[in-house]
Amino acid sequence: MKKTKYIFITGGVLSSLGKGIAAASIATLLKNSGFKVSILKADPYINVDPGTMSPFEHGEVFVTDDGAETDLDLGHYERFLDENLSQLNNFTTGRVYQSVIEKERQGEYLGKTIQVIPHIVDEIKMRIKKAGEHKDILIVEIGGTVGDIEGLPFLEAIRALKLEVGKNNAMNIHLTLVPFIKAAGELKTKPTQHSVGELRRIGISPNMIICRSEKPLNRDLKDKIAISCGVEKNCVIESVDAASIYQIPLNFLKQDILGAIASVLELKNLKPNMDNWNFLVKRVIAPSNEVKIAFVGKYVDLTESYKSLTEAIIHAGATLDTRVDIKWIDSEKLENLDLKESFKDISGILVAGGFGRRGVEGKIRAISYAREHKIPFLGICLGMQLALIEFARNVLKLKDANSTEFDEKCENPIVYLIDEFIDSNGKKQIRTSKTPLGGTMRLGAYECRIKENTLLSQIYQGKKSVKERHRHRYEANPKYRKAMESKGLIVSGESQGLIEAVELKDHPFFLAVQFHPEFTSRLERANSVICGFIKAACDYESSE
Ligand code: GLN
Repeated sequence: MKKTKYIFITGGVLSSLGKGIAAASIATLLKNSGFKVSILKADPYINVDPGTMSPFEHGEVFVTDDGAETDLDLGHYERFLDENLSQLNNFTTGRVYQSVIEKERQGEYLGKTIQVIPHIVDEIKMRIKKAGEHKDILIVEIGGTVGDIEGLPFLEAIRALKLEVGKNNAMNIHLTLVPFIKAAGELKTKPTQHSVGELRRIGISPNMIICRSEKPLNRDLKDKIAISCGVEKNCVIESVDAASIYQIPLNFLKQDILGAIASVLELKNLKPNMDNWNFLVKRVIAPSNEVKIAFVGKYVDLTESYKSLTEAIIHAGATLDTRVDIKWIDSEKLENLDLKESFKDISGILVAGGFGRRGVEGKIRAISYAREHKIPFLGICLGMQLALIEFARNVLKLKDANSTEFDEKCENPIVYLIDEFIDSNGKKQIRTSKTPLGGTMRLGAYECRIKENTLLSQIYQGKKSVKERHRHRYEANPKYRKAMESKGLIVSGESQGLIEAVELKDHPFFLAVQFHPEFTSRLERANSVICGFIKAACDYESSE
């Protein structure tokens, strides 16, 4: 078998520089050059996975087909690479220690003293190699910033791995910030030099520097970085703020990043076909049409919490040659706002997923408004559960209709907790009130069977079934199904007897789904549900 080559990406100076996007961009260029590429995010924090982390702190939790709750960078990787990743593609310090401690308890280390070197570092190396199996190239992004104490075992692992596989089979890319200092009117390279110095101190010499900056770097500055950081002159790549993240691979390509990678890794024929990508990026940046939708959510000040959904909306926009303007509406405030005023220039209402009761009544009001005023509506996950509660309260006139998530003792539990379900790997899961929170949700891809002659079937071009991803605990209660159907609600999607999608008869576009369509949307393959919704909003706008 051919040896896998590795590209290790580290970050310097500060976080949030877009290492994930840089990694995904390089992966995309290599994939489109004909290589089998995969990508891995190694996160030095102690949580076993980000599943129980607050979206306020950590942004969205991304979910893979196999039900892993991962860092949101995995979402970028999938959206760029257009490949399904798995739990092999993201691990944390917590996960690494968990495995090592489990092995120690099983006596697998034969009584040896367990230490960071070699045991923890070996576990990290083993996980990296596993993610690279059967691939030509594996991109490994190390979370955090060089200099973090918790990142040290990861840096030691990639240092050792590079030695092990040989110098033409691994390279280090260091992404840093080159700040523009207004008072001096200059871009400054000192932080980059310090950060590379820090990397060298632990034995890693970068082969390439990617410089994030607000302004382009001139040749002299790039040469200065090359000399002071000890990299070839063609290996200093700039990454200037772009109008769209999807431009980044194209910006890298223009600077011949592939030529530089090819010379280090001894690769040949790197001529990526980016025609379709280019075409879509043009439409993201300068589309012909525009439409405005309302996004009703609880974390509207922190749009990172809805990353996959906002990106999926961009993909749908590119497919439909339309800029989708999002009006963010805080669901909690909507409890008291004038709805007519809030939705006056809106062509579609989106109610996103969420946990906990805060803002729920505002979301229900928004759903009522969309239903009664025949405005295109899409409800996702909690959005579907609330659409059912709204229907129960206002159409079936069932007072006290609710979800047991918000009112455990409500008279009409339209949404409730089921205590047994089959997980995405086919295993039976039992849930009780004592089950710990981590990993107990219905997670990952499930088949959704689609009813013929419905909006959902039309959206999915007549397909009989599709696979979409889930992340929720509660389910629609089938006890109310008949009563709802008799009043014009259609159950258009089902999965293992559970209600997956509902729509309304006398409405141009009212669709609510239990799954998260946004997790499978890619720039080059926008998700059908999101596309259908944006298309309906465009039609609504032109009919107004
Ligand atoms: N809170 C709801 C549940 O757990 C919905 C979750 C979501 O919207 N992702 O079922």
